[in-house]
Amino acid sequence: MVDVAVVGCGVIGAAAAMELARYEVSVAVLERENDVAVGTTKANSAILHAGYDPKPGTLMARLNVRGAALAKEYCEKLDVPYKQCGSLVVAFSEKDEETLRELYGRGVKNGVEGLEIISGDEARRREPELAGTVRAALWAPSAAIVSPWEMCLAFAETAVKNGAELRLNTAVTGLSRGDGFWTVHTDKGDIEARYVINAAGVDSDTVHDMAAPHSFEVKPSRGEYYLLDKSEGTRVNSVIFQCPSEKGKGVLVSPTVHGNLIVGPNAEGSDRHDLATTAGGLEFVKETAKLSVPGVDFSKSIRNFAGVRANTGFDDFRIGFAAPGFLDLAGICSPGLTSAPAIAEYAAELLRGAGLELRRKDEFVFFRRRLRFKELSQEEREDLVAMYPEYGRVICRCETVTEGEILACLRTPIPPVSVDGVKRRVNAGMGRCQGGFCAPRVVEILSRELGITPGEVVQDRAGMRFLFNETKGGGENV
Ligand SMILES: Cc1cc2nc3c(=O)[nH]c(=O)nc-3n(C[C@H](O)[C@H](O)[C@H](O)COP(=O)(O)OP(=O)(O)OC[C@H]3O[C@@H](n4cnc5c(N)ncnc54)[C@H](O)[C@@H]3O)c2cc1C
Repeated sequence: MVDVAVVGCGVIGAAAAMELARYEVSVAVLERENDVAVGTTKANSAILHAGYDPKPGTLMARLNVRGAALAKEYCEKLDVPYKQCGSLVVAFSEKDEETLRELYGRGVKNGVEGLEIISGDEARRREPELAGTVRAALWAPSAAIVSPWEMCLAFAETAVKNGAELRLNTAVTGLSRGDGFWTVHTDKGDIEARYVINAAGVDSDTVHDMAAPHSFEVKPSRGEYYLLDKSEGTRVNSVIFQCPSEKGKGVLVSPTVHGNLIVGPNAEGSDRHDLATTAGGLEFVKETAKLSVPGVDFSKSIRNFAGVRANTGFDDFRIGFAAPGFLDLAGICSPGLTSAPAIAEYAAELLRGAGLELRRKDEFVFFRRRLRFKELSQEEREDLVAMYPEYGRVICRCETVTEGEILACLRTPIPPVSVDGVKRRVNAGMGRCQGGFCAPRVVEILSRELGITPGEVVQDRAGMRFLFNETKGGGENV
C-alpha cells in the first residue's frame, strides 16, 4: 500500500508528486502514456501568467499569483528554460480600454505587482511592431515564458529522484473504496493507496466519476497554434495579448524560450482528444494576430499544433475532496501551467488536513542541470569532445544537438522511449526542418540503446510507429 497514488503525470500530477516527495510519504504516479507531459501540458501557450485575469477571491487567482512566483524559483533550481519577458494586453477600442482598467483592478486585488496601463504610443515604443490601432495596453512585468514540457519533466524527475515511483503505460480503469484506503484498478493490476489524487487533465471528470457521484463535466475547448521559425522569434519582446473574452485569453503573439515565435490559440468546442488543426481555425488565428502585430510573416511557419483545455464551465479550478481520501485536482484549465506549483502546495495542505502525516525528509534533492552543447564556449566544446567523442557528433543540425546529449538523456531518471520524447528532453527535431534530417538518426540511436528494432521505435505515444515496410504488406513493422 502506498500513501498517495497520483493519477496522471502532466504538470499537475508531476508537481503534486514532487511536492509530496519532500515528505516521508510513499507516492506512486500512474500515467497511461509512455512518457510524462504528453497531454495538455505539452500543447499550450507556454506563458506563466502574471495573474490579473482570474476573478479576485477565487482559488484560481490565489494559485496563479503564488504559482508564478514558485515557478520562477523552481525553474531556476531545476534548469528549466524560463524568461521573464513581461506581457502587454492591448486595447483597440473604448470598450477594450474599459477591460484593461478592469483587468488592472483585478490584478491589484490579486496581488500582482508592477501593473501599469500605458498609452498606445508608449506600448509601440516598447514593441515597435505593434499595430498603429493599439490605443492603450496593460503592462505586466512579472509575466514569463517557459518550456512547459521541460517544467513537467523536471518536476517528475525530481519526484522520482526523491523516491516517488512512476508507473508509465498504466491506465487507471476504476477505483473502489476499502476500509480507509482505495484500491486503484489499472490495466496493469491493482494498487492500494490511502489517498488518491486525480490529476487526469481533460479526463479528470472520468476519473472523478470512478470515485464519487458525477458532479461536473469537462467541456473540452481546442486551441490551435502556429509556431514560426527563429527568424520571426524577435518580432516581439514580450507576450502580446488581446483583451480576453468568455472564450479564453484570446490570440497572443509571443516569443518562446526556444527562440521561436508562437501565435494562437483560437477556442473551439472539440472532442477531448482531438488535436487536429483546421484550415478555418488557423486562418482565424492568423487574421486575429495580425490585428495586434501586422508584420508577422506566416510563411515562416514551421509547425501547427493544437491543445485541448479542460474547461468545466465553472470560473475556477475544481480542487477538493470528492470522497474520503480522494482529492480532485480537476478542470485545471488555463492558467494551470502557471498555477501548478501552488496547486501542488495546496494539495499537500489539503491532504495534511485530511490526516496524512507530512514529515519533511532530511534530504530533498532539489537540483537538476542539463548540459547544452550549443551553449558551451569553443574551448569547453573541445575539452568535452576530447573526453567524450560522442559530443562531437551533431545529430540535430538545426539545434546543434549532439549524440552525447541524447545518450545522456537516456540515462536520466525518466528516460525517453520515443523520438518526440528525445525532442522534449534535448530539442533534437525542434528546429527549422522539424526532424526531417535528425529523426532517422534518433531512431537509430533509440533502436541501438533500447535494444529494439528500428521498426519498433515510436514517434511519440505507444503504437505511433515511425517506420513501415509497405513491401511486406499491411504496413508491417520494419
Ligand atoms: C490552448 C491552451 C493554452 C494554454 N495556455 C496556457 C498558458 O499559457 N499558461 C498556463 O498557465 N496554462 C495554459 N494552459 C493550461 C495548461 O496547459 C493546463 O492547465 C495544464 O497543462 C494541465 O495539466 P494537467 O496535468 O492537469 O493535464 P495534462 O497535461 O493533460 O495531464 C493529464 C495526464 O493524465 C493522464 N491520464 C488521464 N486519464 C488517465 C487515466 N485514467 N489513467 C492514467 N493516466 C491518465 C493523461 O495521459 C495525461 O498525461 C493552456 C491550455 C490550452 C489547452
